[in-house]
Amino acid sequence: MSPIALWNSPLAPIYDRVAAGVRLEPSDALQLLESTDLNAVGAIGDAMRRLKNGNRASYILNAYVNYSNYCILSCQFCAFARKKRNADGFELTLDEIVTKAQAAVTLGATELHIVGGLHPTLPFEWYLEMIRTLGRLEPRPHLKCFTAIEVLHFSRMSRQPVDRVLEQLKEADLDSLTGGGAEIFDADVRDRVARGKESAEEWLDVHRTWHRLGGRSTCTMLFGHVETLAQRVDHLTKLRALQDETGGFTGFVALPYHPDNNEIPVDRPPSAADTLRTIAASRAFLDNIPHVTAYWVGMGLRLAQVALNYGADDLHGTIQEEHIFHMAGAGTPQGQTKGAMIQAIREAGLVPVRRNTFYETIEEAPAGGTDASEPRVPMTA
Ligand code: SF4
Repeated sequence: MSPIALWNSPLAPIYDRVAAGVRLEPSDALQLLESTDLNAVGAIGDAMRRLKNGNRASYILNAYVNYSNYCILSCQFCAFARKKRNADGFELTLDEIVTKAQAAVTLGATELHIVGGLHPTLPFEWYLEMIRTLGRLEPRPHLKCFTAIEVLHFSRMSRQPVDRVLEQLKEADLDSLTGGGAEIFDADVRDRVARGKESAEEWLDVHRTWHRLGGRSTCTMLFGHVETLAQRVDHLTKLRALQDETGGFTGFVALPYHPDNNEIPVDRPPSAADTLRTIAASRAFLDNIPHVTAYWVGMGLRLAQVALNYGADDLHGTIQEEHIFHMAGAGTPQGQTKGAMIQAIREAGLVPVRRNTFYETIEEAPAGGTDASEPRVPMTA
């Protein structure tokens, strides 16, 4: 029987298809994104979440390291990149990166998430050396590094094909690729928000090649700027098609756009309703991607917690220090404690699971009640 939210709803047939394991059409995803019946859309996303992940929701102890924000491109939506002439540009040395990484690992981070701008002069060998060096840390963290455009940049800088670049990164000890930089795949939208960046085909091909080499990665969608709802569906359709082909995506992250300090004239960032609807519709449509993350950095932990009942089954990581969204105006804290993650998941009625990068369980906290061994901290927005 369908949830009360679906009774007499025009969305009920979509719920029935999800419950029966029938793949949704792009027109179904568009209908979900266009609906103003948020609870009905949420019930459909939640149904798919339960089918995929039962009553468990995850988080990870991780840390972000941005090695540099110098970038040869000037994507219109980007508030992170700087030129060498800018006083607030930065570039870490290998020693500084290792110090930050070692501190995070010592605090329990199992994953290092490392990205930067397209640096004008650093040679490919510098990145290989960074990965080799970080691969020797104890305990050894999972190295989740680089977006597709960084990989293309390495390819151009080193005059080597993408597959050879990825092979060398893998040999150096790279464990997985990040899913950033997908933005919205539509060519006109890309031209308006990220002119000069890689095309959709190039983004998809970097991940296809990585998956063919046995690697895994995540995928993303930056929504709520100049795109239409149909262009969001087109984006999700392309991700689903690549996943059919390779099976290499471990999770999907819907990133709400932040409008500060950039060149895209958007009066208001995506609303809470739009964010929840997008997560729910994505969850229902991406039937072949195991996990969907509610990215607390972009939406706040409170809304991310609500999203756990709208299709998301993961809160991402503790992070510790974040630059990209905060330079674009995110008012969220720089990091979260393990206790805050556990508390948020428990209060959403799910069993908190600390995961590794591939969403495998490291430890499970009991459902419900309180656990005296976990600090209960005030939840921050
Ligand atoms: S989005 Fe990435 S590639 Fe584009 S300007 Fe910013 S750092 Fe550079």
